[in-house]
Amino acid sequence: MKAVSKILIVEDDPHIVHFLRSALQAAHYSIDVADSIAQALERCADYRPALVVLDLGLPDGDGKTFLKTLRSFSDIPVLILSARNSEDEIVGCLDIGADDYCVKPVGVPELLARVRVALRHASVMQQRDNVIQVDDLVIDLFQRRVSLGQQELHLTPKEYDLLALLAQANGKVVTHRRLLSAVWGAEFVDHTHYLRIYMGNLRAKIEQNPASPRFVVTEPGVGYRLLIE
Ligand code: CA
Repeated sequence: MKAVSKILIVEDDPHIVHFLRSALQAAHYSIDVADSIAQALERCADYRPALVVLDLGLPDGDGKTFLKTLRSFSDIPVLILSARNSEDEIVGCLDIGADDYCVKPVGVPELLARVRVALRHASVMQQRDNVIQVDDLVIDLFQRRVSLGQQELHLTPKEYDLLALLAQANGKVVTHRRLLSAVWGAEFVDHTHYLRIYMGNLRAKIEQNPASPRFVVTEPGVGYRLLIE
């Protein structure tokens, strides 16, 4: 089954919300709504949408303010939907990181076409970003595959999840707590012995010399780190 793409609608006009919600739900998207900048930021963190459809005239400020803030921590595609149709406004939004701009009123076919393009663009970006290579170790986060040299490695799901978390951290240390809660669950955050066992198994598969690892290094008392140049 294809995963449902989650779309966050940021809009304060209930009629437009109703229109967008019906059109997008009919096309099998999952919908969440925020009617202010403050709520939109909160929903982006909690709901983790695949796309944001953004109005510009919001009760607590201009949608561009939200877009700027969002771009400081996220690349998710943003489709602006606004009655403002000046070229300056449109270019201004694209300049600060909007993916597309739609002038209201918009018909359903056009809306859906633009949503599809924005989502496709994002998934291509993600595929490209999601292959991480460190020397001859290749971690394909999109296909959940790991290879070393020319050889594909057979990791267990938990070994893979641990390696993927480290890979996504871009060379930063990932704490014991974060690894345990992400892979085993919040109730396991004190079970650091799990990590010693599973990291041992993981290293046996990816490291030439597990006693002196060149990929996954231990930060004593803190966590683990994938050595990315
Ligand atoms: Ca508005």
